[in-house]
Amino acid sequence: MELKELYQEIILDHAKNPRNKGKCENYNHDAKAHNPLCGDKVHIYINLDNNKNIKGLSFEGEGCAISLASASILTDILKGKDLSFTKKIIEDFLNMLKTKSKITLNSLSEDQVTTINSLSGVQEFPMRIKCATMAWHTLLSAIENKNT
Ligand code: ZN
Repeated sequence: MELKELYQEIILDHAKNPRNKGKCENYNHDAKAHNPLCGDKVHIYINLDNNKNIKGLSFEGEGCAISLASASILTDILKGKDLSFTKKIIEDFLNMLKTKSKITLNSLSEDQVTTINSLSGVQEFPMRIKCATMAWHTLLSAIENKNT
């Protein structure tokens, strides 16, 4: 199978069967965003514990396949990770789309790297980049946005 096809399959799988959809238990941080260009909406929920580990991570959203897949992939990969690791991955992901590179993190499994890289296809479609990055920017806002 060609890499392009594999990437497409991963995106469709996540868009059709989103992981971690809904509000996670005991969430204490959240943030939402809206992409008027495409009509995508996302709301990210985090349960951040006292040791700065992301115990719970989930999302609610609607919109195009790219935006749903992106949110699903994000929660799948970052749930259970600590904050500094999470911020590093977000930075690398946003950088990947900006510089048209690929992620090569050795702190992720090969499967996880392939999954994140599946979103690199939008590099060729500037209009779709926001669809792919919105959930990641929203996760950063949610980390800052303590819900008491
Ligand atoms: Zn979109």
